Amino acid sequence: MAWDFATEPEFQAQLDWMDEFVREEIEPLDFILGHPNDFTDPRRAKAIPPLQEQVKKRGLWACHLGPELGGQGYGQVKLGLMNEILGRAKCAPVIFGCQAPDSGNAEILAHYGTEEQKARYLQPLLDNEICSCYSMTEPQGGADPKVFTCQAELIGDEWVINGEKWFSSNARYASFLIVMAVTDPEAPPYQRMSMFIVPCETPGIEIVRNTAVGYELEGGHAYIRYTDVRIPRDHMLGEPGQGFVVSQTRLGGGRIHHAMRTMGKMQRAFDMMCERALARTTQGEALAQKQLVQAMIADSWIDIQQFRLFVLHTAWKIDKLKDYRAVRADISAVKAQMPKVYHDVYARALQVHGSLGLSTEMPFAAGVLDSFHMGLADGPTEVHKVTVARQLLGHYKPADDPFPDYHLIRREEQALKKYADIIELEVGNA
Ligand SMILES: Cc1cc2nc3c(=O)[nH]c(=O)nc-3n(C[C@H](O)[C@H](O)[C@H](O)COP(=O)(O)OP(=O)(O)OC[C@H]3O[C@@H](n4cnc5c(N)ncnc54)[C@H](O)[C@@H]3O)c2cc1C
Repeated sequence: MAWDFATEPEFQAQLDWMDEFVREEIEPLDFILGHPNDFTDPRRAKAIPPLQEQVKKRGLWACHLGPELGGQGYGQVKLGLMNEILGRAKCAPVIFGCQAPDSGNAEILAHYGTEEQKARYLQPLLDNEICSCYSMTEPQGGADPKVFTCQAELIGDEWVINGEKWFSSNARYASFLIVMAVTDPEAPPYQRMSMFIVPCETPGIEIVRNTAVGYELEGGHAYIRYTDVRIPRDHMLGEPGQGFVVSQTRLGGGRIHHAMRTMGKMQRAFDMMCERALARTTQGEALAQKQLVQAMIADSWIDIQQFRLFVLHTAWKIDKLKDYRAVRADISAVKAQMPKVYHDVYARALQVHGSLGLSTEMPFAAGVLDSFHMGLADGPTEVHKVTVARQLLGHYKPADDPFPDYHLIRREEQALKKYADIIELEVGNA
């Protein structure tokens, strides 16, 4: 497969427009709006739709989607370059119609929803008239879905859901939840669960509390109790027992898109670190002249470049192979690498800024904490490393001899055999 690192001039022009638009119009919004999905916020109602209109006019709306769903079908490499810009501002993904978790939930609805469900839930979601929530993790375990107990039972023509979910982000703003629940407790673990659309106004849904992570002022990750929540029979997405399969539809894309946005966040911290290193003097010289500070700058740049190339190469492979499963090891490796580089770059930027860097007046401490978000959401780093190792080991076979083929003595024996004629000639000429 050929590869090329150049960006087409027409698309570069779009990126240049985005860069300025995000810098000038969207980054300031992060200071005046609360949560970008809070539709009750009058400031949001005034500020966001006109900006969304500009994005639509420019043909850059919902670019993660194919043309059949109103996107551009740009593919992952172009999306990567776009998301890198969007990662700089909290409100940017909403303004470009590609925010998590709605983007992944839309993919599930597009794949598995009926025409009626698409009209009722998918279309308003794609138009950002509403937002959604993905409700899978449970209090007793997130990384191991085999321990989930929240159950859905078919009674008459309705599914009745009972159980608890934990860290359901955005539930407080959502119009519907996508809920994974056990439908056949006796089935093998990966066929026990099914996926459902649950409208938020359904009686029996109780948000016990909205948990906040360390840097958030307001909690948005819901601890939800479902008590006899009744939904119509046709609100199952996919077939009974297909919950895991359906969940994979959203996760491949979701993980790589987080990584693309993280590239932008890191570049932002890096720019600040460099500027500070040049501006701040101590003991008669700029920080930039201290070799240990130079090391922090060089290490950060190397980390960002390596990560960026890895993300874009993975995106390129997705575009070429058109199958997330074929790129599973790459996506898991990117996902496992992301929290480390994000953490390290923000921690160095914090350090170079000294006390100011640690304060809430700078974004670095929040970034360091947010790196843990990236190491947990959509599966912990450890689980992704296991996936990488398993996938890679699948390409190898165990040797059937205690001295394997690559044992140097055997290699030498093989080489002597292969080039026996040359050696014989040398002996003959001697
Ligand atoms: C900011 C944020 C937003 C989130 N949003 C959502 C959401 O919208 N919807 C949703 O359903 N969930 C959401 N989650 C939950 C997320 O999916 C879980 O946090 C994640 O799956 C891990 O589950 P857990 O927190 O229960 O940790 P646990 O499963 O208890 O794991 C804790 C730790 O144990 C270790 N560990 C776990 N498994 C293994 C293993 N196999 N091998 C080695 N070590 C292991 C890891 O160090 C891991 O971090 C969100 C999480 C965060 C932090």
